[in-house]
Amino acid sequence: DSAMEKNQHLNKFIRMCVDGWSLGWHEYHGGNLTYRIEREELAGLELNGEREWVSLKKPMENLAGDCFLVTGSGKTMRNAELEPKDALGIIELDEKGQAYRIVWGLEHGGKPTSELPAHLMCQSVKKEVTGGTYRFVYHAHPANIIALSFVLPLQDEAFTRELWEMEPECAMTFPAGIGVLPWMVPGTVEIAKLTCEKMKTYDAVLWAQHGLFVTGDTFEDTFGLMHTIEKSAEILVKVRSMAAEKLQVPSVQNFRDMAEAFQLKLPEKFLF
Ligand code: 13P
Ligand code: ZN
Repeated sequence: DSAMEKNQHLNKFIRMCVDGWSLGWHEYHGGNLTYRIEREELAGLELNGEREWVSLKKPMENLAGDCFLVTGSGKTMRNAELEPKDALGIIELDEKGQAYRIVWGLEHGGKPTSELPAHLMCQSVKKEVTGGTYRFVYHAHPANIIALSFVLPLQDEAFTRELWEMEPECAMTFPAGIGVLPWMVPGTVEIAKLTCEKMKTYDAVLWAQHGLFVTGDTFEDTFGLMHTIEKSAEILVKVRSMAAEKLQVPSVQNFRDMAEAFQLKLPEKFLF
């Protein structure tokens, strides 16, 4: 598609979808991605403002007038590359942040991801708490972190410490820890509300028996966070698969030393 060469932001978005697909995180149409794209980053894309406005379930004033590059509902990440104008779209919010319309892509009657409520509510919270630097929300279905949600207590403390222990540098990648929610019906305003509440403190929230939600400022950091958490989860799955008990783990003092060396603010509640 000619759109591929014309816009570097679209190209990076497509690459992220395809990288996630290649790692097996997006079976069928699992997972979704949104990027708050600045107006000046839209160069080269032909926008069309003729599609109807759709009201948002929850208005978000601080996203008024913003544009988002989004994956389509029921579309495969693989097709982001093969048929970008079918699999992806750009939506624009109205001047009150109450409704959106599709201004590019999602041809043939496509709709934005069914997780749009969670994406927009997380985009809104992160725009607020980071002063606008965070622009990505990414949801995937990586197998190992999901597997752990069947066997670990569904508590922020348990998941954070286990994941930090498997790869202590995780404490640098997500020093605030990771939030955990029980299984809930996908695509609802309820799951969106609880997720964005956790996103006030965390950059990553696990949806038990479903998948992982992460946020970030760049393509690299957002994808890297998903990748790091899933890698650490994979190590834990391997460890638990081969032995009943761990013989040694990094100590609380190890984390305190690392926090001092790298000026990390690790919350006390994770240092038990
Ligand atoms: P969509 O295809 O609507 O994005 O849904 C996929 C998904 O993972 C829902 O949680
Ligand atoms: Zn999902």
